[in-house]
Amino acid sequence: MKVAIITIGDEILGGFTLDSNATWMARKLMDIGIEINWKMSVGDTADDIKEALRIASEKSDVVLCTGGLGPTVDDITMKAFAEYISAELVFDEDYYERLKEIFDERGYEMPESNRGQAYVPDKGDIIPNPKGSARGVKYVANKTSYYVLPGVPSEMKAMMEKTILPEMKSTVKEDIKVTTLRTTGMMESALHDALKEELDGNDVRIGFLPGFTGVDIRLSSTDLDKVMELASAIYEKIGRYIYAEDWETLEEAVGRELREKGLTIAVAESCTGGLLGDRFTNVPGSSVYFLGGVVSYSNEAKMNLLGVQNDTLVEHGAVSEETAAEMAQGVRQLFQADTGISVTGISGPDGGTPEKPVGLTFIAIDYSGDVSVKRLMFLRDRRFNKELAAQTALNLVRLTVG
Ligand code: ATP
Ligand code: MG
Repeated sequence: MKVAIITIGDEILGGFTLDSNATWMARKLMDIGIEINWKMSVGDTADDIKEALRIASEKSDVVLCTGGLGPTVDDITMKAFAEYISAELVFDEDYYERLKEIFDERGYEMPESNRGQAYVPDKGDIIPNPKGSARGVKYVANKTSYYVLPGVPSEMKAMMEKTILPEMKSTVKEDIKVTTLRTTGMMESALHDALKEELDGNDVRIGFLPGFTGVDIRLSSTDLDKVMELASAIYEKIGRYIYAEDWETLEEAVGRELREKGLTIAVAESCTGGLLGDRFTNVPGSSVYFLGGVVSYSNEAKMNLLGVQNDTLVEHGAVSEETAAEMAQGVRQLFQADTGISVTGISGPDGGTPEKPVGLTFIAIDYSGDVSVKRLMFLRDRRFNKELAAQTALNLVRLTVG
């Protein structure tokens, strides 16, 4: 089965919105063994939307569209779609009343422009939206199935999970088993080298999906045993670098470890500016193990809040093994946590010296009094260095307490 995605919206073309809908859809479909063969983004222009639908229907058996189902005048997808399938838009009185009730229940008066969301094509099936007011539509013609969905990610996802993915899964002839091994700390080329034997002469499909903080290794086959076999061979070789499987994130994996071991943690951040705390608190229920953090950007903050010695800062500098260690110890004490983790580095673009270039970063962990420090050399720009530092710090927690 070939599937195309069309994402609609001027904000996507303009670069104001990252097209995360398409990535999410593609990954979810991959999980059930369906691959995307065509993807397009178009603006909120009826002719372009219709043209995209035409092209996609030639390329694929299923066409998934998101965006432009909202109540405002720039939302014209439903109108364009109705024209494309030669359908009339008819007013759904019942739904209009229901919409008004929903607004009433929330204590708002319904804006007049929401009236437009009660118009639906007289052909095709309505796809309910459990998270919002814009309903979707499904239409089948000339062996092509079209699904038109709203652009709001939470609404699109709910409709995919509830209606579309189960429907599409049932049409996949062979059940495909997919496992994703998520790695961090090893470059893609190094992974290829390390797994040479495992990758050769295997009938399991293997995909390397590199991101800048790690590489996901995707294994898929109709033979579940073969996937499991290959997965365990890979674990044997590089298990240390695998932090989670499938959709689990590094912060979730670390949280799981801390929770299982009944440990608490606190963070002392300099160059990451709170990003590490942000990562920890992405996980619902993280309050069980995450006690808090200090963003100690200045030397004074490092001394006054974390008890870093003035001598240490003068002698070794703020970006040093010694300062990182004292930050981790200080924050562990401050929060009375089992574990303290710290990050200090030179994010750039300025502030580097020959001895301490941009990208130099120290990450320290104090695990019940055992202190260890990692020296890292990141090479990217400021944002990347921050992301990499936070990722590496989380991974150090995983490797230390795991
Ligand atoms: P609304 O009722 O909010 O107007 P809609 O179906 O018209 O819904 P849009 O107006 O296209 O959808 O977008 C609504 C929100 O969803 C915006 O915040 C937009 O940034 C986001 N969004 C739209 N398309 C995408 C996409 N492809 N990826 C990620 N976010 C998206
Ligand atoms: Mg809109």
